[in-house]
Amino acid sequence: MTKAAQVPPSSLTRITPLIEYQVAMPQPTTHLFEVELHLKDWQLEQLDLRLPVWTPGSYLVREYAKHLQSFSAQRLDGQSLIWRKISKNHWQVETAGITELTIHYQIFANELTVRTNHLDATHGYFNPGAVFFYIPGFEDCEIRVAILPPPEWHVITPLPTLAGQANTFQAADFDTLVDSPFEVGTHSVYDFEVLGKSHQLAVWGQGNAEPDRLIRDTQKVIEAEAELFGGLPYNRYLFLLHLSNQGFGGLEHKYACSLNYPRFGFRAEDKYNRFISLVAHEFFHLWNVKRIRPKTLEVFDYDRENYTPSLWFSEGTTSYYDWMIPLRAGIYDAAYCLKQLGESITRLQTTPGRHVQPLSESSFDAWIKLYRPDANSGNSQISYYLKGEMVSLLLDLLIRQRQQNARSLDDVMRQMWQQFGRSETGFTPEQLQIVIESVAGMDLEDFFQRYLHRTEELPFNEYLEPFGLLCQEVPEDSPPHLGLSLKSDKGTGSVKFVEANSPAQHAGVNAGDELLAINGFRVSPEQLNDRLKDYQPGDEIELTFFHQDELRTCSVTLAEPSTHQYKLLPVESPSSVQEQNFQAWLGESLSSL
Ligand SMILES: [Zn+2]
Repeated sequence: MTKAAQVPPSSLTRITPLIEYQVAMPQPTTHLFEVELHLKDWQLEQLDLRLPVWTPGSYLVREYAKHLQSFSAQRLDGQSLIWRKISKNHWQVETAGITELTIHYQIFANELTVRTNHLDATHGYFNPGAVFFYIPGFEDCEIRVAILPPPEWHVITPLPTLAGQANTFQAADFDTLVDSPFEVGTHSVYDFEVLGKSHQLAVWGQGNAEPDRLIRDTQKVIEAEAELFGGLPYNRYLFLLHLSNQGFGGLEHKYACSLNYPRFGFRAEDKYNRFISLVAHEFFHLWNVKRIRPKTLEVFDYDRENYTPSLWFSEGTTSYYDWMIPLRAGIYDAAYCLKQLGESITRLQTTPGRHVQPLSESSFDAWIKLYRPDANSGNSQISYYLKGEMVSLLLDLLIRQRQQNARSLDDVMRQMWQQFGRSETGFTPEQLQIVIESVAGMDLEDFFQRYLHRTEELPFNEYLEPFGLLCQEVPEDSPPHLGLSLKSDKGTGSVKFVEANSPAQHAGVNAGDELLAINGFRVSPEQLNDRLKDYQPGDEIELTFFHQDELRTCSVTLAEPSTHQYKLLPVESPSSVQEQNFQAWLGESLSSL
């Protein structure tokens, strides 16, 4: 659907209405935002109000309307207006003869993630897509948002303030509003500059993050990405960081990103690097997906799913760069980067669903699968983040080798930026393939068919070997293969996952069953692997378990151990060409590994 198609006929000569929202939070502990919409110069006999069902960047229908309550509509003199609900997220108000009115409602906000709303005694955070209505046909009108914070609280958002009005912000249109998260509270704000552009880091929560170090490394990440794309396409950018107990996540915007990270996750090197990788990922999105957008995300339809097969590029390629950029920024070395790529290969190669779901389908079905995992997910799905990252690795290596290091995946990013991103023209899957082929200088139809549209195994070694590396299985002291995993958090042996075609599945064990004993002796989640090591592949063991509270016993024949770990290791005696390729790719010598 295009915006033009939504404009009602009468709007051809319409007077632009003045749309002003006000958000108050008089009792934060109720988790209720009090929202008012003031509308002036309204000309139509009906007012349609629709709340988005999703927010861009998070491909799941979240039904934000379920958190809306106490809707009412009044004329300027306080008299109630007639309204009705048309659908789950659509309210309609009778406005014949009315040019000015107020809508009031509450939004329950008690879900602390980057793509939902949260209000408690310590702060308020909201995503405008989960708070504000759009008025069909008027999405391109300017919208003002006034925040009424409690005393001592302040407001930060990437939106510009309205001159002369404290805590009132201005969005050029509804898309811009949805793309601008709000933080209201006592957060710390740190200002810094990179390449002459203004940046801010706002931090809510306590933990062991050192702001100076975060800012120093964030500056390096910004510089590395600006170098790749040739400058920064904004004047001001906001990093909004929530320090939480367990959370992890990021949501990209054009002029900001929201980050949620464990409050004590900044000391250990691995955890710190993971945070910097998250920063690099969300920041990379300001180009890739916020401006370089798949065609079906060129104009957002906030009412329903926006399907695309190209998230392998929007998310997967971004995931590949989130390990490459900190390396280029000097935050860690090539050995660390290869360790991460090895872990990604391990995750891919130990997910049975890679044989079932093609990469392009994983992207298309994100709305019903990736964001809605269940006990069958591992057997039937592959993440477009993970496999997209690995396909991007192969494409980068393919281009570098074929073009003798004169070109790389960087050139694909730059060309996509020039051709589609700058003008925000959506790209089709075919156009993306053409750009990659033009940079690689070869036809890649066969590559796309095999690795994006079918489920062939990725031939890592064919692509890695010219760079002096091989992907190798790491020998492990693994037990014979049973093919199930247990939830470890409950102390009992509740079955979390049963691998397709495994001995456990053939014996009739189900996800949700409670495993009690092996050969008559109790087994706990912590003991399972160790107990299996007492047996050999081909041995028959007896499992006792509850299935829907019914005690069952079955015999299982254990299989050969499966590989659990892959690593990227240097070849023996690399040639000078392999050395050169490795150096050009990762900026270090192979011998440094
Ligand atoms: Zn992402």
